[in-house]
Amino acid sequence: MEIIHISAECYPVAKVGGLADVVGALAKTQTQEGLSVKVVIPYYNLSSLKTIQTETIFSSDVKLGQFNFPFSILKAFNTRLEFDLYLIVIPELFDREEIYGYRDDIERFVAFQIAFLNWQKTIETIPSVLHCHDYHSALIPFMITHSYEYNILCRIPTLLTLHNALYQGQFGFDKLHYLPQYDLSKTNILEWGGNINSIAAGLRSARAITTVSPSYLEQINTNGYGLEYLFREVRYKSKGILNGIDTEVWNPETDNKIAAQYGIKNATVGKKINKEKLCEMFHLDVNIPIICFIGRLYEEKGADLLYEFSKKTLQENAEKFNILILGSGNEAIEKQLQSLVADSQGVYNLFVGFDEDLAHLIYGGSDFILMPSRTESCGLNQMYGYRYGTIPVVRKTGGLIDTVQDIDKNGLGICFQNETVEDITSAIERAVTLFENKEKLNTIIKSGMMRDHSWNKANQDYLKMYKLIIK
Ligand code: ADP
Repeated sequence: MEIIHISAECYPVAKVGGLADVVGALAKTQTQEGLSVKVVIPYYNLSSLKTIQTETIFSSDVKLGQFNFPFSILKAFNTRLEFDLYLIVIPELFDREEIYGYRDDIERFVAFQIAFLNWQKTIETIPSVLHCHDYHSALIPFMITHSYEYNILCRIPTLLTLHNALYQGQFGFDKLHYLPQYDLSKTNILEWGGNINSIAAGLRSARAITTVSPSYLEQINTNGYGLEYLFREVRYKSKGILNGIDTEVWNPETDNKIAAQYGIKNATVGKKINKEKLCEMFHLDVNIPIICFIGRLYEEKGADLLYEFSKKTLQENAEKFNILILGSGNEAIEKQLQSLVADSQGVYNLFVGFDEDLAHLIYGGSDFILMPSRTESCGLNQMYGYRYGTIPVVRKTGGLIDTVQDIDKNGLGICFQNETVEDITSAIERAVTLFENKEKLNTIIKSGMMRDHSWNKANQDYLKMYKLIIK
């Protein structure tokens, strides 16, 4: 079985968030299980990509309305990846240092998809499944089914996985001519709310849909960022498959990004060394718990609530816990969080930016990981938290519901209901109380570290899904 993943991100070469981790780890697991797996992403101006050895295997043009973009396909070699990586080079659109966030993101990712299909239509062997991820590749199922140019690909089964349905790749009908000529009677498939909507087109055209957790699938049926009706309509071909984590990359016993490696048996000692390192780096108090936050600083992640909560904590001069933040995103929120450092009282600090190594150290050295998410399709941080003995404190939403049970219900985390500073405050108070009860704390830490979050189950579920759509 040959699977091609088409994605905007892939760990370890191009990462903004969980999409990268999932595509990289799933592709790796599938290869280990004997599938032939290719991952195709754009070639960004990132040092992680520029240092890869590649050979050009195909060149052509993408026509996007009146624009013409030359592109080439690079095959990576001598990588330490366990799957085949292909890079689509469209210099004018992707030779940039960020993965997203440009005004022409629509042009960039529509061109990416067309380039992919222009290449695929020249290849004799037909893949078993095209596995599309998020809006960046969600037009592919539509294009292979209805664009005359890709007729040769029209029978390839497609699976669309939604990692974040908030971003839908919408654009006006004034850009309809970007799409390769298609059967115009099918325009309704593209349309949602008066616009072309890549996710809507993908939902209607893909043979099957998956979300990255079962609860998220439930949730978007009633609160689907405007697409709930459509989510309900395609429910018959949808399934929630809970993400796993790469237990080799995220393993405190072998992790060389942390200050001291540790396993379940020596977690207390190991975590203490990592915590001391963190406290030294960020001038925090080693005697009280570290509550960390790692993630994109956006409202969807509750980053604004994190600011309000941190501000209130510092104002109250409580000094019962440290707050340590690693993140980047919304500039206004970044500035707000930075403004608190002036009055940090040795219990608050942050690093604004993206730093993979630091993330590992923070998971290793913190006591609790706070996720005040408004929405969370799955969430990986809580699983990394478990693995590193860092107890998750989460709002009950999406995949967090599927992965974190409250300690009062025999679970291994602390859960709260509402998107409010009050709820975060009382959850953190419970965390501080737990921290003081060392016996219970250690039991929870060790039980969390024993949880199985490997990809084994999800991998089997994806395999079933592939078999279902390969008729
Ligand atoms: P999302 O994909 O919505 O951003 P997830 O919880 O699924 O959230 O995944 C987030 C991933 O991105 C985790 O691997 C987390 O450690 C990582 N991450 C997020 N922000 C940063 C950052 N500033 N520096 C390093 N890693 C980060």
